[in-house]
Amino acid sequence: MALTGIQIFKLLPKTNCKECGVPTCLAFAMNLASGKAELDSCPYVSDEARAQLAEASAPPILPVQIGKGVRKFTVGGETVLYRHEKTFYNPTAIAAKVRSDIKEKDLKAKLAAWNAFQYERVGLNLRPELVAVEDAGDAKAFAKTAKIIAETSEFNLILMSQNVDAMKAAVEAAGFKNPLIYAATQTTVDAYGALAKETGLPLAVKADSVAALIPLTDKLTGMGIKKLVLDPGSRDVKQAFEDQLTIRRAALKASNRSLGFPTITFPCEMASNLDVETMLAAMFIAKYGAITVMSDFTTESLFPLLLERLNIFTDPQRPMTVTEGIYEIGNPDENSPVMITTNFALTYFIVSGEIEGSKVPSWLLIKDTEGLSVMTAWAAGKFAGDEVGMFVKKCGIADKVKKKELIIPGYAASIVGDIEEELPGWTITVGPREAPHLPAFLKSQ
Ligand code: SF4
Repeated sequence: MALTGIQIFKLLPKTNCKECGVPTCLAFAMNLASGKAELDSCPYVSDEARAQLAEASAPPILPVQIGKGVRKFTVGGETVLYRHEKTFYNPTAIAAKVRSDIKEKDLKAKLAAWNAFQYERVGLNLRPELVAVEDAGDAKAFAKTAKIIAETSEFNLILMSQNVDAMKAAVEAAGFKNPLIYAATQTTVDAYGALAKETGLPLAVKADSVAALIPLTDKLTGMGIKKLVLDPGSRDVKQAFEDQLTIRRAALKASNRSLGFPTITFPCEMASNLDVETMLAAMFIAKYGAITVMSDFTTESLFPLLLERLNIFTDPQRPMTVTEGIYEIGNPDENSPVMITTNFALTYFIVSGEIEGSKVPSWLLIKDTEGLSVMTAWAAGKFAGDEVGMFVKKCGIADKVKKKELIIPGYAASIVGDIEEELPGWTITVGPREAPHLPAFLKSQ
């Protein structure tokens, strides 16, 4: 259990030196207990006290890193029940399951198809992270399938077996990819705990209820294993949903360290078709599955889940942005039109989509406005004429085009004069106010 403020206070130097930024050690202790301060802010904590306090200052749901390479990810590390309280930090990882008796040819075909499911949105590459390999009963085939996935694809792995020897062989074959071992149960907790401790790999823990998870996680943390992922075993929709809420509440509201770990959910074991699985996965992305395992990936199932995940795991207090710079749309050349807008991701997304739809190759300049849309940025002075002019000068677009004409958003018409002053030799044209009018505007140029 987490320490209380008073318990923490007893471990502090009690000099009230104020170097941590608050007037007293007691105030610092209270802040630490409520997660509002970092232990490192006090330079005078002894090593012995630091070890004890590390638990109090650890996140209520421990973060766990899984995988290697471009699709590695972290789950857990969450601090709030509701997204609007602060933000959710680590997006739900999405997996598809294969059995280890799949033919090599079929496995490679699946991996190639799944690898192609990558979607560019607001400057991000949206894609799934994991393949779960389920042991079909042959230890050699299990290890071989895991090895093929680990060596020939970007996907990271969940190794699913209750056969300890098969798991050891698979870990030997694919352990370099930092897979999740699934799962330590009542019968395998000692063996899988020892394996996780020896290899440093993350370990899932499965029981037949939330309560039954507690002795297992206590045993594993007692062995020094902290990289745990919880499966309360429920496969009935109502119970599975309740279990997710119970675990999250216990970790955040009751400071229950035995349940302070991310969770794994299995829509693939709760439905008989992919449509229902997709609905269940959508529910678990919202509340509170850290990993969700499907029976397959198809574009019509995966894409909405990836978009939902993108929305839920963005910080509601900070607008999404794209990087400032020059964006080429449709292979523009020196005679192509040059437009400018702000770096609010939605603005970029809509404007670039309309330009693309117009089939007129264009240069789109994106100016950093801290994620504000055109009108808001203009009102806040972040899309002012002189700043826009300076940005156009320094971004290097003048070297790419012959015709020095800059098209600005219609809502920013009032900054024309200031831009002209900053950019002598350029013609400043006021474009349409609304992005959907861009195609007709560009074609009429
Ligand atoms: Fe106390 Fe440490 Fe803060 Fe100084 S820096 S007031 S010793 S908690």
